[in-house]
Amino acid sequence: MTAALELVDVEVAYERRHQSPVRAVVGASISVERGRIVGLVGESGCGKSTLARAAVGLVRTTGGSVTFDGSPVTPLDRRARSRPLARLQMVFQDPQSSLNPRRKVGAQIADALSDLELVSKRDQQARVEELLRQVGLPASTAGRHPHQLSGGQRQRIAIARALAAEPSVIVLDEPLSALDASAQAQVANLLVTLCRTLDIGMLLISHDLALVNQIADEVAVMYLGLVVEQAPTRELWSSPRHPYTEALIGSIPRADGNKSTPVVLAGEVPNPAAPPPGCRFHTRCPHAFERCLVEAPPLVSIEPGRTQACWLQRVG
Ligand code: SF4
Repeated sequence: MTAALELVDVEVAYERRHQSPVRAVVGASISVERGRIVGLVGESGCGKSTLARAAVGLVRTTGGSVTFDGSPVTPLDRRARSRPLARLQMVFQDPQSSLNPRRKVGAQIADALSDLELVSKRDQQARVEELLRQVGLPASTAGRHPHQLSGGQRQRIAIARALAAEPSVIVLDEPLSALDASAQAQVANLLVTLCRTLDIGMLLISHDLALVNQIADEVAVMYLGLVVEQAPTRELWSSPRHPYTEALIGSIPRADGNKSTPVVLAGEVPNPAAPPPGCRFHTRCPHAFERCLVEAPPLVSIEPGRTQACWLQRVG
């Protein structure tokens, strides 16, 4: 299947006055097909949100390419966005800040419909109600203001607004992290339903690997601007091949209160402005050896559908 959203060797660097640029993303490649959820996980500050913004053209890339349905995605003023690019949508972490507090939510969804002229004025009300239904809210919600809704309901409105553009891909930047546990589970289920029933591809950015494990079809793991491992979710979860992925999974408490593998990450995440030479993970890796200190391992295919960047080619 052809990917709807394709990121190839994407780099994003920020210029700094009188200092060398910070390379926030260093050569990340990710494909998102319609009807599938790709999780992008990593600790805070690893570059995943920057990559998400680059994927929708909100951040200028300094290398590689981003294409959506075969067309390049480049930073554009929102008004100048072409109709095809409008089918690439983004949902942000904080629905409160992405909604206008003074307008009723129905009007805000209708605005998205008007911008794209996807339905006639006469059919707008019915379409707003249909979108509300699709995100699990009653039609009466249209008449409410954002502050009258819970966090989970507001995030559903943000998703409904994205759906108004009839997207083929939605990039979601930490869409669940501001919600309580029960709203998280409900919105996570909603995302899976929308992905399958409307054939929408999703790039789900999250620091929560356990949550991504529950809903993503495949997962890319980022560390200090680099994708270090990518695999179908089940395989990644059951047999991580990169020491960083192993450590992330090992730190997640299980239902019985135990952690899966007693792996402890040593040290702090290095400063992205001055990353370590060689393998960027070597300062915290329990398996580091001489080569890791001087030579960066490339991201290579280790079996069909799986890639990893580590000198230890642990394929068994
Ligand atoms: Fe660890 Fe070396 Fe692999 Fe990097 S390349 S993850 S330091 S073993």
